[in-house]
Amino acid sequence: MSIEVRNPATGQLTGSVEKTPPEEVAASARRARTAQQAWGRAPFSERARVISRFHDLLIDRSKVVFDTIQSETGKSRRDALAELVSVAGTARYYLTNGERFLGPQRRKGAIPLITSSNLRHRPHGLAGLITPWNYPFLLAVGDAIPALLAGNAVLVKPSEYTPLSAALGKKLLEDSGLNPDLVGLVHGGPEAGSELIRHVDYVAFTGGHVTGRKVAIAAAERMIPYSLELGGKNPMIVLKDAPLEQAAAALVAGAFANAGQTCIAVERVYIEAPAFDRFAALVSDLARKVRVGWSQDFDLDMGSMIHTMHAAKVQESIDAAVRAGASVLAGARPRADLGPAFVEPTVLTQVDQHAPIATQETFGPVISLHRVGSREEAITMANDSPYGLNASVWAGGSTRAMEVAHEIEAGSVAINSALMIYNAFDLPMGGVKGSGVGRRHGEHGLLRYTQEQSIVRSFEAGGGFDGVLTNIRSDKTANMILKLVKLWRRIPGIR
Ligand code: NAD
Repeated sequence: MSIEVRNPATGQLTGSVEKTPPEEVAASARRARTAQQAWGRAPFSERARVISRFHDLLIDRSKVVFDTIQSETGKSRRDALAELVSVAGTARYYLTNGERFLGPQRRKGAIPLITSSNLRHRPHGLAGLITPWNYPFLLAVGDAIPALLAGNAVLVKPSEYTPLSAALGKKLLEDSGLNPDLVGLVHGGPEAGSELIRHVDYVAFTGGHVTGRKVAIAAAERMIPYSLELGGKNPMIVLKDAPLEQAAAALVAGAFANAGQTCIAVERVYIEAPAFDRFAALVSDLARKVRVGWSQDFDLDMGSMIHTMHAAKVQESIDAAVRAGASVLAGARPRADLGPAFVEPTVLTQVDQHAPIATQETFGPVISLHRVGSREEAITMANDSPYGLNASVWAGGSTRAMEVAHEIEAGSVAINSALMIYNAFDLPMGGVKGSGVGRRHGEHGLLRYTQEQSIVRSFEAGGGFDGVLTNIRSDKTANMILKLVKLWRRIPGIR
């Protein structure tokens, strides 16, 4: 059975893929495991050669990358470019640092001089990626790069709405010299995701909170490790002495990029009362200037929502907020004139802090502005959420901003920025509370695709630590050992 792919900005059919039947998922997993044997044993430099070629090819073929991403998401060309830049950045980061992160490490032995300890990182074998539609190239390909560099084969289940970008990623990897069996694609909806989990040794899931829980349960049943990169209801805090023009510009960029369909996008803003009116005026003015529509040039700022159902859901959440008393500062009108799934950049105020639009992830171009009496109130309101993915802080001085950042319950906080964390590749990125488990990027983003193996060695064959214990046959020897244990803690340099 085939899945038709349409450009949501125009409604036009742009391609199709065949749903992967369960027996083909199993066959693909078998082929991947066979190919992984040699790939996992190869030196890092050999794997790096392929990924390095892929990095360059990505840039050489940027036009087809942009066209493909846009054709199934309806997003702006600029948002498609952002995906490519992040994939290239991920590849560059792990090409530069991967060998060091993966390299064996010497650790302290159990007994100095007569034992040694070493830590190795072994690939899981077959890593499974289940990815959403909002950044279909970035999330399917960007998360596959560290998995491959760590020596795994990968099985990728892209969103059923956006399978073409992942397929292009596989083709580009193959054109860079990767054995085609090392990357398997599984097409389909939830059932295909469930099937993938039955065959892999690790699951890297990116998507919604509700699905994330199901994935965690399925992974736990098979006792395989997993990571969950889930949604957020990301707050911005603007203190009264903040640079308001810059904060307003960052908010508009950070809330409306990708039509607000970004996991780390700002959705709620807490502004200290003396700055509220001016800040609200600046933001509304900028929001009205966002150029929305469908274009394959870099002349528009914001594209379509992913499909008409999602556009209708976002529009309904705006309408419900207005019915409940919210004031519209910008946007909020249905835009059927632009295409079947467009929503205007919308700025609301007078929103009840407990209304769905202020508490649930909207995942659209909608922000609510809240007036607060103090920075403490702003922090309390920002933390009053089941989510904890990303936050943004604006203050007059960096010390004050840093103090606020330390109080925020989120996996990442951006000061003087909104979305910067995604391209800070040396930092782990992920959520606390309902926003997920585990991290991508940084050392952790590579090592999550490995199992730690500890190797301890006794220099004296047949004796060592085990020999000491088996020779304890009296209170006297046991007491001597206990005295030694006590003394041990007092010897400098011994851990
Ligand atoms: P989704 O949870 O509906 O789907 C994500 C993927 O899971 C899709 O490929 C889907 O087919 C698959 N799936 C659905 N049910 C499944 C099941 N029972 N078992 C296995 N797989 C299953 O999410 P979506 O609507 O595609 O994406 C939007 C969500 O993703 C938002 O909540 C957004 O915040 C989140 N997201 C998070 C990050 C991050 O890094 N934290 C990045 C991007 C998107």
